[in-house]
Amino acid sequence: MFGTGLLKGLGVTLKHALDTFEDDRESVPDRYRGSLELGNNRRVIQQPIDQEGLLTIQYPEEKRLLPERFRYIPMLIWDSEKQEDRCTACGICAKVCPPQCIWIVRDSDENGKPMTRCSDFYIDAAVCMSCSFCVEFCPFDAIKMNHDYELAVYDRYPQLVYDMAELTVPLEYYAALWPTQYEEEQARRKEEEEQKRKQEEEKAAKAAARAAAKSAAAAEETATAGAAPKRSAAELQALAKERAAQRQAQAADGGGSDDDDAAAAKRARMEELKRRAQERARARKAESGE
Ligand code: SF4
Ligand code: SF4
Repeated sequence: MFGTGLLKGLGVTLKHALDTFEDDRESVPDRYRGSLELGNNRRVIQQPIDQEGLLTIQYPEEKRLLPERFRYIPMLIWDSEKQEDRCTACGICAKVCPPQCIWIVRDSDENGKPMTRCSDFYIDAAVCMSCSFCVEFCPFDAIKMNHDYELAVYDRYPQLVYDMAELTVPLEYYAALWPTQYEEEQARRKEEEEQKRKQEEEKAAKAAARAAAKSAAAAEETATAGAAPKRSAAELQALAKERAAQRQAQAADGGGSDDDDAAAAKRARMEELKRRAQERARARKAESGE
């Protein structure tokens, strides 16, 4: 019927209005359930997922609790356990950043040799589009997305170009902001470290086994050389004479080279042919009656 959709829409609006009125009439409205008090009438509100009605949050005194996966501007992680920046200045994040708003300055030692750490790291927050590509591609879990969105300033430059000092946060800050992801990452990192440790142990064991086998072979060689003393010149001469005599004896026996075998076969064939020729001669004589 004409106008049914319009009436349905108005019904939804009316329901929200009544829900909101009901929520506001309660002494402690639902929207304050489980909220965090920050003092000075400031609080962070966690809106229940089943909340009905339209909420008015009195920003900036009241703020909505942000979901874990909320992202705004990246932050760099300072590993509090190892007391070092996780960033190795590999530059992957700068390469994948679609609007190219990351600048990295690699540090170098006193000889000018590049090192695996940054001397500075800049992000232009006015250009960053919060896509999180830099986080996805960082192989060292060194860059994460911050939840801090209150970044209003009077001038874009240089206030919105953050340097390394402004971007760096301790690992604990990240753990508090992204608890689920942090736990998953820690479990993965531990597993990887364990695998790496095992691989190194296996490698060391193989190297030790190879070294042991090599030294055993060397020892055996030395022992063999010691057991068989070198022959004197006279002994070698006698040995050569003995071998020559053996060869002559083999030749005399008919055994030996291929040439001798061929000659023997040829002699046998000739004998056979001779025998057949004599048989034929005898047969011819018998036929003629001689
Ligand atoms: S933040 Fe990650 S990807 Fe970017 S330079 Fe540092 S280690 Fe490389
Ligand atoms: S979040 Fe996206 S736009 Fe912002 S710095 Fe990272 S890659 Fe670049």
